[in-house]
Amino acid sequence: MLDKIKALHSEIESLNAADAAEVEVLRIKYLSKKGEINALFNDFRALGPDEKRAIGAPLNELKTFATEKINTLREALDNNGASEISIDMSRTAAPVALGTRHPLSLVRAEIIDIFSRLGFTLAEGPEIEDDWHVFGAMNFAADHPARDMQDTFFIQRTPDVLLRTHTSSVQSRVMENSKPPIRIICPGRVYRNEAISARAHCFFHQVEALYVDKNVSFADLRQTLLYFAREMFGPETQIRLRPSYFPFTEPSAEMDISCNLCGGKGCSFCKHTGWVEILGCGMVDPAVLEACGIDSKEYSGFALGMGVERITNLKYQVNDLRLFSENDTRFLDEFTSAHK
Ligand SMILES: [Zn+2]
Repeated sequence: MLDKIKALHSEIESLNAADAAEVEVLRIKYLSKKGEINALFNDFRALGPDEKRAIGAPLNELKTFATEKINTLREALDNNGASEISIDMSRTAAPVALGTRHPLSLVRAEIIDIFSRLGFTLAEGPEIEDDWHVFGAMNFAADHPARDMQDTFFIQRTPDVLLRTHTSSVQSRVMENSKPPIRIICPGRVYRNEAISARAHCFFHQVEALYVDKNVSFADLRQTLLYFAREMFGPETQIRLRPSYFPFTEPSAEMDISCNLCGGKGCSFCKHTGWVEILGCGMVDPAVLEACGIDSKEYSGFALGMGVERITNLKYQVNDLRLFSENDTRFLDEFTSAHK
């Protein structure tokens, strides 16, 4: 009988069940009134006192073991079932917080969009440039202050390698490598050695446009500027051009637009002049065309350049340049509704 108890013990030890019904079958087989363990107890009653003493403890142990084993199997199934139920596939997922497009990206995209409607195509170039493409081809004199270490980040001297101070370097590369007509828009990041303040930063963003073809005139430039200003700031916007100086254009001009806050009546934003400055422009200096291998007797062109931060300030009244690069989401979240 002891052998029978041992055999039953190892049989029960290796039991498995796939579901609750199987557990119940096993319970009936071993633990019910007509089960195998109860049958052993029936046999047990017929034994003599000595045998009872030897068999009693192992037989009771077997019953306890079988009960625990059946309970363990049942619990394991219950736990599986519980974890299945806890995954509610119909429940609405937690919303993923979407970021916003950066205000400078929004404005840059809008500028590119306006110029693309006039047939300008996108051109890009490296931020680490040589002296020729940033200054030499752009008609900067050898002793121009922009070529000074104080104004420009030089990476290497002789030959000079530097962080571009304007995206005009893209213009010189395109003029070198293609034949007119050229009608490009060059957006990009530029670097200047400036102390960082609310009004100045060591890097900012520009968009420049260049149009070179036969018979390009100042009237074409002015009409392009007027179209841009009205698309960007509204159809009532007026522009005015003031004479200025840049090494790479002749004649050169600064463009003002009628103040988009007061409509030109005068307010604190426009310092009561009714005008705000937005960009520089001019006819491409023939020396620049020649330096880039374009015949200045056959072709003429205009160029214009603006700071993306400046335009963004005018559109959204951001009064501190540093906000653009601090990655403060409280600031960036303000532009959620500016998405088109
Ligand atoms: Zn104003």
